Amino acid sequence: MKAVTILGATGSVGTSALDVIERHPERFRVHALTAQSNVDGLADLAVRFGPEVVVIGDVSLEGRLREALRERGARARVAGGRDALVDVARAPQVDAVLAAIVGAAGLVPTLAAAEAGKRLMLANKEAIVSAGALLMAAVRRGGAELLPVDSEHNAIHQCLAGVREAERDGARLVLTASGGPFRGRLDLDTVTPDEACAHPNWVMGRKISVDSATLMNKGLEVIEASWLFNMPVERIDVVIHPQSVIHSMVEFPDGSVLAQMGTPDMRTPLAYALAWPERVASGAQRLDFARLGELTFEAPDLQRFPCLGFAYDALRHGRAASAVLNAANEVAVQAFLEGRLRFTGIAATIQRVLDAFDPEPPSGIDEVLEIDRRAREVAAGMLPNRGPAPQ
Ligand code: NDP
Repeated sequence: MKAVTILGATGSVGTSALDVIERHPERFRVHALTAQSNVDGLADLAVRFGPEVVVIGDVSLEGRLREALRERGARARVAGGRDALVDVARAPQVDAVLAAIVGAAGLVPTLAAAEAGKRLMLANKEAIVSAGALLMAAVRRGGAELLPVDSEHNAIHQCLAGVREAERDGARLVLTASGGPFRGRLDLDTVTPDEACAHPNWVMGRKISVDSATLMNKGLEVIEASWLFNMPVERIDVVIHPQSVIHSMVEFPDGSVLAQMGTPDMRTPLAYALAWPERVASGAQRLDFARLGELTFEAPDLQRFPCLGFAYDALRHGRAASAVLNAANEVAVQAFLEGRLRFTGIAATIQRVLDAFDPEPPSGIDEVLEIDRRAREVAAGMLPNRGPAPQ
């Protein structure tokens, strides 16, 4: 029986993971569930899964959470704030931690799970983009088991299973991208937040949905893949595959290409990460090849979607560029979602921040957090002052 902490339990990835866990009560039990501000959602999950602890990121909501649990007759211990997130990520009775907080806010508890040697099921790509070297060092030091949940990296993990280190040396990674909702759309200036969040194949949180629409999501994944699989930037390709059936591929020097396929459902990589090296049912629909029709591929359009190129450049540049890229993107996406920035303003803002701010590489977590804070300040200073996005 594995005891699991779910960081970001009320989110899209968190609830998908809980759906898988619920199917296997003999294998998994929930130790802790966390959210930022969704008190009722967290309290409902506490009733359903009976965790020992529930953590609310916003400490001012601790009292409301206690009340919500009392009303529902749930008995979990309540804690609040970042230290409490760290505590449930490294608690001795926990075997596995799902890092599913959105944004760099998830970095500190994710690092704590790595340091504590847990099975770290990583969905929170912003953590590894901001602090890849530190996170990978913490995984090694703590003896953690790092299992990627992002469907592309999970696919690559599956394709590389059983491949010896020496054979990986000549391999090339091919990350697939759906292309997002605007692949064929010419006028990107008038895109609204709701349009950007309506992904053609996946149901996800709003931030990653916008990242997917700008192709920044794929850029973050290129950086993530480089850290996870120790792969140089020249050997990571991206191909647009609108059907989202092939989740990514590995090409070997002999010309063989291994691909992992499945319906687009996060429960598949989550079930893999929870049960590895075993396989358990996830609830995902089976692929019906006869009804699938065709699988198509095309090159990404870096002119119209420059964010992917920014991520490649940041990876090549090194230093702290990935952390700056990530922070600028988080600020710009939030401004877009709040109607303060046009869709095309996201890429423009990120480019200006990258041009203006090139700090030294961080040597510890405090320096990463400081770079993240300063990059957010620079980005915020570059946004249009107030009011709705200019038309
Ligand atoms: P959601 O926005 O749906 O959920 C985010 C979760 O994190 C919620 O539980 C939220 O709590 C919590 N949270 C938000 N801000 C904070 C904070 N400052 N401190 C602590 N907790 C916080 O996001 P997704 O589930 O879509 O994505 C989660 C992560 O997984 C992201 O990094 C994303 O890139 C990655 N990912 C997502 C995929 C998907 O299919 N959705 C696929 C692959 C990767 P509350 O509900 O209270 O706001």
